[in-house]
Amino acid sequence: MNSAKILVVEDEVKLAQFIELELKYEGYEVTVANDGLSGLSAARESHPDLIILDWMLPGLSGLELCRRLRQTGDRVPVVLLTAKDEIGDRVAGLDAGADDYVVKPFSVEELLARVRAHLRRTQEEDPDIFVFSDLSLNRRTREVFRGERAIELTAKEYDLLEYLIANPRQVLTRDRILEHVWGYDFMGDSNIIEVYVRYLRLKLEANNEKRLIQTVRSVGYVLRE
Ligand code: CA
Repeated sequence: MNSAKILVVEDEVKLAQFIELELKYEGYEVTVANDGLSGLSAARESHPDLIILDWMLPGLSGLELCRRLRQTGDRVPVVLLTAKDEIGDRVAGLDAGADDYVVKPFSVEELLARVRAHLRRTQEEDPDIFVFSDLSLNRRTREVFRGERAIELTAKEYDLLEYLIANPRQVLTRDRILEHVWGYDFMGDSNIIEVYVRYLRLKLEANNEKRLIQTVRSVGYVLRE
């Protein structure tokens, strides 16, 4: 999930290096450009998943860079960095097609939170990614996250959770779950569902997160907040 490619366009070299280090520490792949024109060509060549873009840049401003990307149909999420915090400037940034902005000086936690939020939003449009509350599951990579926490599941735990998250807010009877997750020919003890739900809850609620897999007494289970 974290191997997203991020392009940082920032002319303050020290700040650019700082952001680069923080992003790399989080596991992102990072490219840096120090002026507007090289930022634009880096955006077109490396197809980043997200751009952190300074507003005031030599050559081509961040705003103009953003506008040019949008003109060519590029929908990459753009987070603008700006020292300007007047409302008129914010509107100009959004008009140019930026998705968000962070006002300098900013905390790195705030910047990282925005980055995660925008990457998550693009990932939600992926049909192989299921999101329910703060739980997300990727059917291609079989990765599961609760918030930012990666959760290791066994094959059967994963299958059960995938079935639940693919059918959110629907009460799934024990028979349906058995058939779908264990197969029609399953001859074992049907208490196996209870056992696996318990395993899943332990893993999903390891940090005292709220319960998402609810028991519907004498019927089955439902994924619901
Ligand atoms: Ca600048």
